[in-house]
Amino acid sequence: MNIPSFQHKLPAAPSTAPSLPSHPVNPNHRVQSHFSTLAGGGQKGSWSIEKPAKTDVQAVYKSLTGAKLYQFVQRYLMTKEQLLENGYPHAHPDVKGKAVCKLDSRAVLSPSPTERYCSRCNALFVVDDWGFPKAIVSCAYHWGRANKRRVATGLETRYSCCMGDLQSEGCCLASTHVSDNLNPDNYTGFVSTLPPNPGTSSHHAVYALDCEMCYTTGGSELTRVTVVDHDSRVVYESFVQPHNQILDYNTRFSGITEEQLEDVTTTLRDVQAALLTLFSSSTVLVGHSLESDFRALKLIHHTVVDTSVLFPHKMGPPYKRALRNLASEHLKKIIQNDGDSCCPRHDLNF
Ligand SMILES: [Zn+2]
Ligand SMILES: [Zn+2]
Repeated sequence: MNIPSFQHKLPAAPSTAPSLPSHPVNPNHRVQSHFSTLAGGGQKGSWSIEKPAKTDVQAVYKSLTGAKLYQFVQRYLMTKEQLLENGYPHAHPDVKGKAVCKLDSRAVLSPSPTERYCSRCNALFVVDDWGFPKAIVSCAYHWGRANKRRVATGLETRYSCCMGDLQSEGCCLASTHVSDNLNPDNYTGFVSTLPPNPGTSSHHAVYALDCEMCYTTGGSELTRVTVVDHDSRVVYESFVQPHNQILDYNTRFSGITEEQLEDVTTTLRDVQAALLTLFSSSTVLVGHSLESDFRALKLIHHTVVDTSVLFPHKMGPPYKRALRNLASEHLKKIIQNDGDSCCPRHDLNF
């Protein structure tokens, strides 16, 4: 997935922002809804909504680096309640290395250690003790999102991949069913970011983060992680060899191929060690639905700016706006144009 320069997708700053030019507001019309959201979400301060002067915006964003940027994004941080509600991993109160996450209301848990629901076609299938599907059954699924739209007769829902309705047979065929294998017992091996050492640069760091995942015999696992700074410079990037056997590289959405992972020896543990050096608990991480990235990284971190929460779906949770639509609307940039959202079934759109 592309990671656009996140400076340019920051929503408008409140007009009361200290030490910034007056009204550094994104000229986009969506600004008003974010103000309303933030004001209603228990964020700091109150402010009035004013139409910005377009000419100031780029200059203001360009001036936001280092401590100034860090201070600027504080008002967009997720609250404790938002982190819980949106399924971010939290440390288990009793078990070291275990995490607890609130699952999406539509999430379907694996019924037993040897039974799983396919994350693509919803079929129930049986796996052996190692997580391999017992029967060789192909998986027919729709890779696109189920979009609701208004038609003359009311509302209809069709898949964006082939315009088939919800009853239509999948337009894409894969050799096997795959599953996220959702099970609270699987949330082990988590690490938490540590408080910063006074005087270190991580004190004021703001990074954007994105992960790619594949399907393995264990469920969904990390295959690549990318961290960029405020200027889109890559500060850390690595392919990752999953712990379990890969069943599907999820290439349409991840862009990751078998060849790319062939000689990779970096493990999740290696990545966790690198990220715990790069991040402190005060580091601001920006991303879209970072809860799924954190689950793949097995990382507990609560200083987060989540664009899926800042730019909410008009129907409210659990619906989320697709990153590609936000990028097109707010940045005038086309991203992910080769496939669809990274989580197509979780992004029902109007
Ligand atoms: Zn389809
Ligand atoms: Zn399937």
